[in-house]
Amino acid sequence: MLHGLADLAAARHLVLGADGATVVLAHPFATIPLGFAVMGARTLWWGGCAWDSFAIPHLVDDEPEVLVATTCPACGSPHAWIVERGAPPPGEQLAHFLVPVSRVWDDVVHTCGNQRIFCGRGCIDAWLASTGNREGSVFDLAALWRLAAHWYDGRLDRGYTRREPSEAHAYFESVGLSGEFWGLPE
Ligand SMILES: [Zn+2]
Ligand SMILES: [Zn+2]
Repeated sequence: MLHGLADLAAARHLVLGADGATVVLAHPFATIPLGFAVMGARTLWWGGCAWDSFAIPHLVDDEPEVLVATTCPACGSPHAWIVERGAPPPGEQLAHFLVPVSRVWDDVVHTCGNQRIFCGRGCIDAWLASTGNREGSVFDLAALWRLAAHWYDGRLDRGYTRREPSEAHAYFESVGLSGEFWGLPE
């Protein structure tokens, strides 16, 4: 069993905790809080990051419509959206991803923990100033929804081949995300 987990972790299908025996992430699912909760009709999940939370209703056929809830990392304001398969949820909030796609696996828990949704530009700037972080990528909820919609296609099927973010330029470009952060020169 432990060998199996280690193999899956080595292939980046799972992320294990420091003990090497507990599953922390099995994207888009998480067993630790990373700022999001995802509530379906029958299941309540830790949502992982913004990307993962928006992906769950696209991936789980039994839960095609969920409530995604989070708080703004800058000011603590609560935010919630109904996320479903048909169209992006309305909302003026902005996503901010801190770690460029070529570096996401350096520390994937840190990466996911910093893929968040803020009230807007002012809160992103305040958070960057207070944390000393450099701006990563900022985009709206519609782009986040398009990013999440098909990223994990096939994830629950046998024989799934994991996408490597650093190789997924074409997918990112197709959903409107490009530039150096997404692995492409500006
Ligand atoms: Zn805020
Ligand atoms: Zn994530």
